Amino acid sequence: MAYMIIEKWASDLAQIVNADNIKCNESLKQYTMTKLGGNADVFVMPETEEEAANIVKYAYNNDVPLLMLGNGSNMIVRDGGVRGIVINFSKLDRIEIDGEIVIAQSGALIIDVSKQVAAQSLTGFEFACGIPGSIGGAMAMNAGAYGGEIKDVIVECTVLTPEGKRIVLSKDELELGYRKSIIAKKGYYVLSAKFRLAKGDQEAIDAKIADLTFQRESKQPLEYPSAGSVFKRPPGYFAGKLIQDSDLQGKGVGGAEVSTKHAGFIINKNNATATDYIKTIRMVQHVVKEKYNVDLELEVKIVGED
Ligand SMILES: Cc1cc2nc3c(=O)[nH]c(=O)nc-3n(C[C@H](O)[C@H](O)[C@H](O)COP(=O)(O)OP(=O)(O)OC[C@H]3O[C@@H](n4cnc5c(N)ncnc54)[C@H](O)[C@@H]3O)c2cc1C
Repeated sequence: MAYMIIEKWASDLAQIVNADNIKCNESLKQYTMTKLGGNADVFVMPETEEEAANIVKYAYNNDVPLLMLGNGSNMIVRDGGVRGIVINFSKLDRIEIDGEIVIAQSGALIIDVSKQVAAQSLTGFEFACGIPGSIGGAMAMNAGAYGGEIKDVIVECTVLTPEGKRIVLSKDELELGYRKSIIAKKGYYVLSAKFRLAKGDQEAIDAKIADLTFQRESKQPLEYPSAGSVFKRPPGYFAGKLIQDSDLQGKGVGGAEVSTKHAGFIINKNNATATDYIKTIRMVQHVVKEKYNVDLELEVKIVGED
């Protein structure tokens, strides 16, 4: 993008947020868990919900593309990077617990919410103890694991519309389904989420978290950068099993590889580019389609330019 346009966006944003929270040509490698991909023209981190709303309004009114990046645990950024503004809410990370009600801001990490509620003997959020995303990303994706999902515990969610208007969506209005929500569909920006949990038995909560942590650590290649499960579960199948049975583990393009530990994960094993990673995804989809006539739909989001 022309240098002057980037400079203009940055100087306009400096009217809304502290200049320290604006970065031009910022590498997104450090903000995504695959550790690959290119730069954002402008990267901005609001410190308040009001700043967030003003940035969204600015982008909307000036026709500047705006991409929401959460904790980058389900996002692949192409090597050419992202044009426009990338907004990140990691500075909006307050977590409030009042009895059985928990309100977490969008940038709070799911893992931190899970730890804090467990420490208060609240049950219902154990399933999320190892999901490495933000609350905003978890709402957008209706994140879930080990039989639990966000849908089970959500009360309501406060979002900004693409125009920057603040609205509250009830559980039903959120249209939460398997790894989907109205948030992604309508391009809303999550500000915070309200959950209802229940008082539980501390020992049982701790034991469940220990068990789920053990299962995750023993089955997932957490020692390598990845985006978690790349594909959604196709109806009637398990993506990992199809990939395993297609003999694809250990195979890949360039520095990317289908994990030998968990076939549903593609790891950045050795300085992969986003192109390597995406070619590996396409190779897996192609082989599984040929062999089993099953279309593997992406769970991860691929953004940016080649
Ligand atoms: C090792 C590993 C294990 C994982 N295990 C699981 C698992 O067990 N279960 C599971 O469900 N997922 C899992 N994931 C995937 C990922 O953690 C979840 O999808 C998580 O919810 C993504 O959150 P994020 O903040 O990282 O979002 P990002 O990856 O940054 O973004 C994902 C999508 O959410 C949108 N988004 C992010 N924040 C907001 C916001 N504030 N408002 C609106 N939209 C937003 C983005 O625009 C994007 O479309 C795993 C990932 C890894 C790397």
